[in-house]
Amino acid sequence: MSELSELYQQVILDHNKKPRNFHKLEAANRTAEGFNPLCGDQLTVYLQLEDEVVKDISFEGSGCAISKAAASMMTQSIKGKSKQDAETLFDEFHRMVTGELDEEATPNNLGRLTIFSGVRDFPARVKCASLSWHTMHAALNGDNSVSTE
Ligand code: ZN
Repeated sequence: MSELSELYQQVILDHNKKPRNFHKLEAANRTAEGFNPLCGDQLTVYLQLEDEVVKDISFEGSGCAISKAAASMMTQSIKGKSKQDAETLFDEFHRMVTGELDEEATPNNLGRLTIFSGVRDFPARVKCASLSWHTMHAALNGDNSVSTE
């Protein structure tokens, strides 16, 4: 467990310092804004959706280390995925951080994203970790904004 939390901290720090896909996407045809009033996390997700496939995805915004790292890893996980696969991953991630999915007992596609499983023990942090996912989900479905409140 301490190993896991060490890995978790390393990954969070790394992605917070060097967030991936952290820029505005000029070719985006879907965007959504997400806001987590509890913590103050705010971000915009840009999606380029073509033939039901996420050709490209990026984000911008400001927030705590967890929200930024989660957004960074979300973009890495979603890029190149079909809309259907992106929705499946959103569902799995959401159920994992809210404690509905036991990622060790149930087959899933989460891969490295399972490092976020620990946030389920910190209810206030669940929204930080899932904000970018809710925002991506909104963008994918043509909604322009999402608030976790
Ligand atoms: Zn936060």
